[in-house]
Amino acid sequence: MNLLQLCPFCGAGETSIYENGKMWTGMKYSDPISISIRHWCEPIIGQPSRMIERVGKDLDSAIAAWNMRSQSTLFVARHRETGLYQRKVGAHFIRFGCREWIKFKNPSYSEIREEIESLRVCHEKDGVKVWTDDINDCEIWDLHAIQNYLQYFPELEIISFNIDTGDIV
Ligand SMILES: [Zn+2]
Repeated sequence: MNLLQLCPFCGAGETSIYENGKMWTGMKYSDPISISIRHWCEPIIGQPSRMIERVGKDLDSAIAAWNMRSQSTLFVARHRETGLYQRKVGAHFIRFGCREWIKFKNPSYSEIREEIESLRVCHEKDGVKVWTDDINDCEIWDLHAIQNYLQYFPELEIISFNIDTGDIV
């Protein structure tokens, strides 16, 4: 199954999948008329927010509708010294698991760096590759993540490449 890409606006938030129009036929439920992907962005205090919805006739087309982006340029992170790309595991901690930790504990820059390094060590101990030379296997950074989290990854530089041609731009 295709996976849902991160929200292009908040890079996180909550996303759920709903089946619309299922009816009881007397024997079983009918197939849904459509599938909805519904997303609620990370709330910003004092700002109104509204659900974002993309719909398809089935799950695959609903996911395709959600994943549709107008830009054909993707951003990936490359290690300045080794030239290797950061795999999908690399930045997850700061973008998901530790959001709450950062919000409530308000850790210092060096505490955040220590967490990033210990997470990488943990992953590598578990046999997970943190770095890759295959651009197809690297983590895609959205603009939100670049603006907010790149400061914690001084060893990384962001490069962009074109999906249509596969060229680094
Ligand atoms: Zn969002």
